Amino acid sequence: MGLTGIQILGKLPKKNCKECGHPTCMAFAMKVAAGQAEITACPYVDPAVVEEIAEATAPPIRTVKLGSGDQIFSLGGEVVLFRHEKRFENPPPLGTYISTSMDEGEISRRIDLYKKLQWDRVGIKLQPEVLFIADGKDRSKFENIVKRVREELPHVALVLEGDKASLEKALSICGDFKPLLYGATVDNFEDMTSLALETRAPLTIIGRSLDELAELVDKALQKGLKDLVLDPGSLSVKELFEDMVIIRRAAIKKRYKPFGFPIITFPYRYAKDYLSESLLAGLLVAKYASVIILSDLKGESLFNLLVERMNIFTDPQKPLVVEEGIYPVNGPDEYSPVVITCNFALTYFIVNGEIESSRVPTWLLIKNTDGLSVLTAWAAGKFGADSIAEFVKRCGIEQKVKHRKLEIPGYLAGIKGELEEELPDWEIIVGPREASGLPALLKRVYAELQEMKKAS
Ligand code: SF4
Repeated sequence: MGLTGIQILGKLPKKNCKECGHPTCMAFAMKVAAGQAEITACPYVDPAVVEEIAEATAPPIRTVKLGSGDQIFSLGGEVVLFRHEKRFENPPPLGTYISTSMDEGEISRRIDLYKKLQWDRVGIKLQPEVLFIADGKDRSKFENIVKRVREELPHVALVLEGDKASLEKALSICGDFKPLLYGATVDNFEDMTSLALETRAPLTIIGRSLDELAELVDKALQKGLKDLVLDPGSLSVKELFEDMVIIRRAAIKKRYKPFGFPIITFPYRYAKDYLSESLLAGLLVAKYASVIILSDLKGESLFNLLVERMNIFTDPQKPLVVEEGIYPVNGPDEYSPVVITCNFALTYFIVNGEIESSRVPTWLLIKNTDGLSVLTAWAAGKFGADSIAEFVKRCGIEQKVKHRKLEIPGYLAGIKGELEEELPDWEIIVGPREASGLPALLKRVYAELQEMKKAS
């Protein structure tokens, strides 16, 4: 069981020296208990106590780290069954596999997909982040693939499947960059666990049933291994779903140690085609995969899975926001319309999408409203006439355009007069209530501005 803040405080030196970045030992202890600070931030705690507290405050599902330096991929670390209870912590990396049985053309195609399939959404880069390199039986080909992938895809986490000798070689190629080893079964348990112990690489434990999985994990823990990933070896979609829920529930609710680890999944093992594989992967994003390996990468499926993942792993208590600023859409100039809205990501996407599809060059002003939507932000005093006027004056749009026409959301019609007083040089145009009405308005304003340009 976890320790309370008071119990942790009892183990601190109580110097109140602030070196941990907190004003008092008490404040620090509370943060550690809440999982918002690491006990190692206090330099005065005895190492034995550090270990004891770290163990007691660790999440019920261990955080296993792959990669190195700036490229760290955290798996697991989850503390709840449902995201509304708190939030899900570490989104599962998605990717596909390359096997030594593939020809060079296919290997290159798959590597190229990792370079090509990348999207920017709300300032977050969405891309495949993990690659499973399978079947290390052809050792020299396996080594070459590992070498090539490390050179060409340094931002991608690796899962390596092979025997002890080929994995040893692959690990030396990876250097500091920690891949996940796949995997220890009942047949190769001794070899794989000693390799993981020697190299400190995370290891997948593969069971043919949950009972066998628990038994093998227990043995691995007794050998001193800590960074483990589970493959429950489920045989059907139904069994997979049941296994995922049983493992997560046992880890979170019962603190059952052998199941307190991230889970790797392969949805293609259960699917008859790519569509059902994608649907299953979508299910696994929510319940409860820590790594998802697909049979191939197809943009139309991967993009949706990554967006779903982004939504599921967003803190439900914090709205998704875009950065405050001026966003040029369709290549605007000094005589392009100016539109303002809030920084709630959904609003931004809808408004931006309508402007893009109108093809009207436009300056889109995004004001920070702490992620609140237009009306909520107005009601909270974050999107009223005074704050909009202050932002318009400060953001630099007055230097970018030679006109003074500002379009505000239709829901803010009531502040038009007030805003005209705050911005006396500007003509305030009340836009539509629904963004779908934007293109017609933008075309009209744009035509007026082009007339003004000709006359200037
Ligand atoms: S560094 Fe340690 S002793 Fe100093 S205030 Fe923080 S917890 Fe207390």
